[in-house]
Amino acid sequence: MIPISRVDFGPEEEASVLAVLRSGMIAQGPKVAEFEEAFAGAFGAKHAIAVNNGTTALIAAMEVLDLGPGDEVITTPFTFVATINAVLRTGASVRFADIRADDFNIDPASVESLVNDRTKAIVPVHLYGQMADMSGIMAIANRHGLAVVEDSAQSHGARFEDSYAGTFGIGTFSFYATKNIATGEGGMVTTSDDQLADRLRVLRNQGMRARYQYEFPGNNYRLTDLQAAVGIPQLSRYEGIVTARQANAAALSERLSEVRGVIVPRELPGRRHVWHQYTIRVTEDAGVTRDELAAGLAEDGIGSGVYYPGLIGDYDAYRSHPLVAHDDDTPQAREIVSQVLSLPVHPHVGESGVDQIAGTIARRLSVTV
Ligand SMILES: *Cc1c(COP(=O)(O)O)cnc(C)c1O
Repeated sequence: MIPISRVDFGPEEEASVLAVLRSGMIAQGPKVAEFEEAFAGAFGAKHAIAVNNGTTALIAAMEVLDLGPGDEVITTPFTFVATINAVLRTGASVRFADIRADDFNIDPASVESLVNDRTKAIVPVHLYGQMADMSGIMAIANRHGLAVVEDSAQSHGARFEDSYAGTFGIGTFSFYATKNIATGEGGMVTTSDDQLADRLRVLRNQGMRARYQYEFPGNNYRLTDLQAAVGIPQLSRYEGIVTARQANAAALSERLSEVRGVIVPRELPGRRHVWHQYTIRVTEDAGVTRDELAAGLAEDGIGSGVYYPGLIGDYDAYRSHPLVAHDDDTPQAREIVSQVLSLPVHPHVGESGVDQIAGTIARRLSVTV
């Protein structure tokens, strides 16, 4: 069985967690500070503020931008629901830009067409481990004076030209169990703005500057030292994790690029893809549907995933939501949502795993590779 994701912990994590347990101090403390510093150092951030999950990271970013009723936020309909939920919490409205087929991320041209007087922020999601076209997005943001929040939950260490994910605007990251760096639950907010960083730190701790000294009503968004202890060793071997993912992705593409009905994912020029997911598109030429292929893979012991099976605006909970746009046409996203299938690409897949995955797909699509 090759699962779609698998955690990768070793003796360092065990020792590091045990040390925290034995210290008797398990809430936010020195390990969280160490994790923040290591994260900022590894991924080019001036400030990194740890929080308890990736959704909280998004919510905290929206809160410090003072988004509220009457404001509009432009994002992608092809994302995990947390991106949209975080915007809705603030009372701001969600507008959907279309995506591009080459990177699955929001298309700056589509973003531009939605900008109006109410627009306050753009929220690109760096999906699957590859960043959106940040030069196009930042040009629009700068021209119109818009804030940018980069949902980088899937893109720790990804780069656009020389810049890391989360260094263009406010960056938000997740350390959920399946992400490239995993602490069970966990998140990080990055910013180069000293004042925003300061507000984020106070916000995360009930709005307290010092004990019982309240600056504004905050919340408890704190991460624990136990979780930071799991994250720190992964950060130090992260280059190796990404190298293994890149090798698996390259091998899968070599085997699958000639298969009829399969479009393999590409790392675009000038970008560093960290391969959180390896996502093919199954087209009509395949002769079987995407869901049939997924079922066939499962029969042969290969996990796969559909991220995501629907556009957010199409779900009942959002279709008639007063703060969610209903007329934003996203034809590219609509086509792609029915085609995507993510295959195992994590470090444990290896050469034999790639053989098995590619062989099974070729057989299921009745071709030889
Ligand atoms: C995982 C994820 C989130 C949410 O992170 P959690 O830690 O699960 O709260 C947000 N956006 C995207 C794109 C994600 O993949």
